[in-house]
Amino acid sequence: MRSVSIFGATGSVGVSALELIAHEPDRWSVEALTANTNAQLLARQAKACGAHMAVVAADSAYAELKDALSGTGIECAAGTAALEEAAMRSADVTLAAIVGAAGLLTTLRAVEQGGIVAIANKETLVCAGPLVTAAAQASGARLLPVDSEHNAIFQVFDFDAPESVARIILTASGGPFRTLSCEQMRTMTPDQAIAHPVWSMGAKISVDSATLMNKGLEMIEAARLFPVGPDQIDVVVHPQSIVHSFVEYIDGSVLAQLGSPDMKTPIAYALAYPERISTPVERLDLVSAGRLDFEAPDPQRFPALRLAREALEMDGGAPIALNAANEVAVEAFLKKRIGFLDICAINEEVMGRMSGAAAATLEDVQQADSAARVLAGDAVSARQRR
Ligand code: NAD
Ligand code: MG
Repeated sequence: MRSVSIFGATGSVGVSALELIAHEPDRWSVEALTANTNAQLLARQAKACGAHMAVVAADSAYAELKDALSGTGIECAAGTAALEEAAMRSADVTLAAIVGAAGLLTTLRAVEQGGIVAIANKETLVCAGPLVTAAAQASGARLLPVDSEHNAIFQVFDFDAPESVARIILTASGGPFRTLSCEQMRTMTPDQAIAHPVWSMGAKISVDSATLMNKGLEMIEAARLFPVGPDQIDVVVHPQSIVHSFVEYIDGSVLAQLGSPDMKTPIAYALAYPERISTPVERLDLVSAGRLDFEAPDPQRFPALRLAREALEMDGGAPIALNAANEVAVEAFLKKRIGFLDICAINEEVMGRMSGAAAATLEDVQQADSAARVLAGDAVSARQRR
């Protein structure tokens, strides 16, 4: 039996992970499950999988959680300190599936314990990658990427001979606005942005897929996870999302991992590593898929990739600022306070003003993150006044 804790259990990735656990319950013992505010769902999940502990981040959701779990023997707690404590409880595998920089502390605490940390929470790697990888080196923790592209690369990357890798090529679905003009994108609503053609995901990452900032964040995530330089990371648009990424070797060989676009496959790979387990995922049928298309991303219509590449090359405070500004701008877009094209405009504005920020310590990261959020909030307000 393998013990597992899931941070962000009520989200899209968390729910998929719990489906895998329910698929083969004898394999797993669930230690802790966490959520932000959804106490009802969290309590149902904890009861269904026999978790030892359930934690909500919001203090205001504590009474509801306690009530829903009364008489079950499942421990419950609330608040950020309780989340950190849950991350420090021993588990063979911790799935970091909180969305945004809000997942930073729990991910870091889990990494500090050693063991396997399956990372879906890409924003943590973007804003604090060097801290997370240094903590993993110190504790002996094994970081396994859950993001489908990085999981694909992990499966085909020759870590014994990294010098034999010429480049890694991340595939991007292109999102729901792949074929739209800037004029058409300008008026797109949150509902239209969230309606992803291939993947079913949380709201924030769905908007990131529409701007292509998701792929930008993933370029930075790749630089944190794999021994390659910024100039060895490329992106190709692949609308079917069947090839999950490529590794090109210096001899001209290109290796890829393919599969149906379902997060349960990379989640299963990371949770069971180094074993492979069966999943209830629809098998890839190449004949009915028929064709695989590839095209170059358009930097004019999708400036997010250029911004992310600049952040990656500058490093330091730039990725922190880009990520924090993007979280604020996406939320403002979801609340209909700004338009779709404002998201990347705000990201660029904030990053330009923050690139000198330090990023060496956790305090540096938290400070740069907060400062960028203030600037982004101001930029949102300024646009609303126009
Ligand atoms: P989601 O919005 O569906 O779920 C987010 C989870 O985090 C929820 O359980 C929520 O309660 C919790 N949460 C949110 N804010 C929190 C806070 N302030 N404190 C504590 N917990 C909080 O998101 P998702 O789509 O499951 O994505 C999770 C992470 O995985 C993201 O970083 C995303 O980029 C990454 N990811 C997701 C997918 C996908 O298919 N959904 C694919 C690749 C990577
Ligand atoms: Mg991805």
